[in-house]
Amino acid sequence: MRSPDSEKEPERLREKALEVHRRLVAIYGDMPPRPRLDPVSEMVDTILSQNTNDRLRDIAFDRLRSKFPSWEAVRDAPVDEIEDAIRIAGLSGQKARRIKEALQRITEERGEMSLDFLRDMSVEGAKKWLTSFNGIGPKTAAIILLFSLDMPAFPVDTHVHRVSKRLGLIGEKVSREKAHEILEKLVPPEIYYTFHLNLIRHGREVCKARKPKCESCVLNDLCDYYRAVKHISVSGG
Ligand code: SF4
Repeated sequence: MRSPDSEKEPERLREKALEVHRRLVAIYGDMPPRPRLDPVSEMVDTILSQNTNDRLRDIAFDRLRSKFPSWEAVRDAPVDEIEDAIRIAGLSGQKARRIKEALQRITEERGEMSLDFLRDMSVEGAKKWLTSFNGIGPKTAAIILLFSLDMPAFPVDTHVHRVSKRLGLIGEKVSREKAHEILEKLVPPEIYYTFHLNLIRHGREVCKARKPKCESCVLNDLCDYYRAVKHISVSGG
């Protein structure tokens, strides 16, 4: 039989997530919607973003767009020409093949270069379809759905994963893949976009992987990691 405490746990975590959101909005603001890419462009953009930074991804994306007049032209181009255009983003051979394969498959399966049909699917169905592509994992799928189609999917990158774990919003051993499901249930869909971007910013600027700045963190009274570290230093000193 479940204890009354365990029944209250999801509610407590939901409240905690909302409080984290409120405090991050207070310091970083409510993120304005970024200029939206169409879903095919967003897919190419996210494949380019793997293992590189935003600046190099953007340069590679712009070079690809200026070298080829359309996504159909990229689809039909030799892999080495795509690779040349995106070299700056790293892993260019692998990314070029993945982009070309994805563009080929979209037109083969849908008869046109468009992912707009995903809007008519359930979030789960759309995720399943996208993650069946080589090189598109749960994070990339969620980014395409949330950023370009405004569908309620919550992307979890390395920062979101780390900060959520330290705060105790997800368990210590929860994988990044599983974290998508858990955070999607925990956080209200209307704040996915801002919550996602603010957690990334907090992870980059404050809750860094190696040396989190816990003493100056506005979330420290909510944070499991901070509580545990403080407890050790109190009992050790
Ligand atoms: S208190 Fe420390 S570990 Fe917790 S969220 Fe803030 S920086 Fe990260």
